Amino acid sequence: MTTFVRRMIATAVLGAALTGCGSGASNGGGGGAEARRAPAAPAPPESAAPPRSPAAPAPPTVAAGPEGLTPVFERARKGNAEKVVALTFDADMTADQGPRAARGERFDNPRLIAALRTLKVPSTIFMTGRWAEEYPDQARAIGTDPLFEIANHSYSHHAFKSPCYGLPTVAPDAMRADVERAFAAFRTAGARNVVPYFRFPGGCYDDRALRNLGPAKVTAVQWDVVSGDAFATDADAVAGQVLAGVRPGSLVVMHCTRSAAPVTEQAIRRIVPELRKKGYRFVKVSELIGQR
Ligand SMILES: [Zn+2]
Repeated sequence: MTTFVRRMIATAVLGAALTGCGSGASNGGGGGAEARRAPAAPAPPESAAPPRSPAAPAPPTVAAGPEGLTPVFERARKGNAEKVVALTFDADMTADQGPRAARGERFDNPRLIAALRTLKVPSTIFMTGRWAEEYPDQARAIGTDPLFEIANHSYSHHAFKSPCYGLPTVAPDAMRADVERAFAAFRTAGARNVVPYFRFPGGCYDDRALRNLGPAKVTAVQWDVVSGDAFATDADAVAGQVLAGVRPGSLVVMHCTRSAAPVTEQAIRRIVPELRKKGYRFVKVSELIGQR
């Protein structure tokens, strides 16, 4: 197999993964448009997330389901009158993409983060552990900036349910360790604003995955608005799709991975002023969950 062919295949796999992140077609949970399970509860002290400073209040979580099943949150309760919306950005990097990064492919997007700072948009970054290892300075900068919170998008960006857009699959008995390895990578990078939320790679999960992650004490976070930014070349189309989809309490999925989502920053510069004009306020996922 030529290098070119290998690269094309690798690109296709990442493409599948990113498309999966934004498709919402495969969540397997059938949870509808609201959090599926019980009301908000304080984060348990044994949460897998790194300890926060004593002064910081524990981020709100959703209570576990029956038999400790990981709870799933998709958007704020319907009928919530307040015009709030959470923009979320998946910082994807698959465990085996190190050689591609070494050849110069950029899985980060510093200009997107800079735009969010300039526009003062509180946001939640769902980061893979592998990304934090590749870009530790950025992980620390994001994770110490009160504008942002870092949530967990697994260490490896492998699938927690198969099939899932061609992603390699995590073995059931390795799922919890994969999530905890990502939290460890955030800690090593020096990130502090880390919340106990987890987004399944590709959004793919089933009850077995929810059961296996129960001991990790995370809240799984899906979305109700797909931005379509993966491999998009038309920022206006991405912005239009988001603007058409957002409702009060919505949760939007986008990406913080320049090589695979090249127009996200441009789209954000359109989306943010438009939504503000419509009366929306941007919140992090922790605030959205806290409002339930
Ligand atoms: Zn992803």
